Amino acid sequence: MSEFDVDLFVVGAGSGGVRAARISAGYGARVAIAEEYRIGGTCVIRGCVPKKIMVLASRFRDAFDDAAGFGWTIPKKPEFSWNALRDAKDKEIGRLSEIYQRNLERTDVEIHQTRAEVVDAHTVRLIGEDRTITAKNILISTGGHPVAPHISGAELAISSNEAFDLPELPNRILIVGGGYIALEFACLFQRLGSKVTLIHRGEKVLRGFDEDLRDELMLALAAEGITVKMNNTVAKIEAIENNCRRVEYMAGDTDDFDVVFFATGRSPNTKGLGLEAAGVALGANGEIKVDQNSRTNVPNIFAVGDVTDRVNLTPVAIREGHALADMLFGEKKWVPDHSLVATAVFSTPEIGTVGLTEQQAREEMMVAVDIYKTRFRSLKHVMTRRQERTFMKLVVDAKSDKVLGVHIMGEDAGEMIQIAAIAVGMGATKADFDRTVAVHPTAAEELVTLR
Ligand code: NDP
Repeated sequence: MSEFDVDLFVVGAGSGGVRAARISAGYGARVAIAEEYRIGGTCVIRGCVPKKIMVLASRFRDAFDDAAGFGWTIPKKPEFSWNALRDAKDKEIGRLSEIYQRNLERTDVEIHQTRAEVVDAHTVRLIGEDRTITAKNILISTGGHPVAPHISGAELAISSNEAFDLPELPNRILIVGGGYIALEFACLFQRLGSKVTLIHRGEKVLRGFDEDLRDELMLALAAEGITVKMNNTVAKIEAIENNCRRVEYMAGDTDDFDVVFFATGRSPNTKGLGLEAAGVALGANGEIKVDQNSRTNVPNIFAVGDVTDRVNLTPVAIREGHALADMLFGEKKWVPDHSLVATAVFSTPEIGTVGLTEQQAREEMMVAVDIYKTRFRSLKHVMTRRQERTFMKLVVDAKSDKVLGVHIMGEDAGEMIQIAAIAVGMGATKADFDRTVAVHPTAAEELVTLR
């Protein structure tokens, strides 16, 4: 008999926690998991999945407009129902959450639908069940939450948590921020029919992305009819008649909106988890500090995903969770690799990026680089006469010819970058790209024909 109730107790049933639980149980470990909200975590319930559903919905507006360029006449102006989309989205989220739950049950993971807190290095308290469980290992995978600036009236604004379930499509929405969430929602609300204003404290959106990509996206946002306010912030929000919001900007001018949406970053969920009592060390932003094996300073307590604030992306959390299960209970140990993680921003046009930006290569890595770039109107948009451009850029090490970074803006950039990431991860050179015969006619062929 083991001295502990379970071999692994997982706090938080999001992408990383569920993967760690299932793989560990598959090895025969006795695993329990606690979730206070819905199984699936941010990605499934109020992140990537519902967001992508809404992005896809929003792009039908373009499809209806574009159809005319290809000989179609749509007899009646298409109408959009926010409620119908919200209901369809809820149905799919419910289905996915159930699949997550069934997969846990199938591997005999014990599910506790309650908040859990760490009591000490080997004990977890199940708040809703008013009892404790002892565990040989504890995994914290509690994710993060949206944060808003401390300004007067901040509580009158929403975050991405509420954006998916608004009672109706707002006529006028102000989105604050210049990161992933701000851009994705600005583009999707604009296409669904809201009048969108995007306000960002910086000069350009997407800090940290390649400068050319940032410039291209800024042009695209303006062309989409989004009102873009850069180098500006919201100083104050007030409730006014008709459940509207009056926003005062930093210069004292004001505007009225139906909804104000803060997309100003996320913070790790580490408060009230008993981590201090267990002696788990936190970083400056409240994130759990871990080593490359996701181990905290307490040897049998681990953490994966956004709560560690490493690379805050679902597929990364899944890898961290899987690697942890393999390390604790499997035979083949490995360490998750956080380099060369490809990522997409599902704005419209979309962004896909992997590897070094030109600025990182030149300024941080001090590498001499050759730059190849192209900007073109795709065949589809030549036909539709839409002005949308596709932009592609390769950052190549001038000495070794290795492709250090690929940056794309345009339709299907997310799909393209997934494949490009394999090549970059394998150390492909520009000559390898050039040797690859183009698939014609595609947009992606430009990646292998850049001169
Ligand atoms: P980001 O960190 O990407 O962006 C936050 C934005 O808010 C930045 O533009 C930042 O400006 C701005 N900001 C921060 N604080 C303030 C403030 N006090 N006042 C005004 N502006 C402020 O966070 P998101 O919330 O967009 O997304 C969180 C994370 O979730 C992402 O980093 C990403 O890892 C993940 N995610 C991934 C997605 C994907 O893969 N497609 C989609 C959505 C989220 P500045 O640049 O000046 O700091």
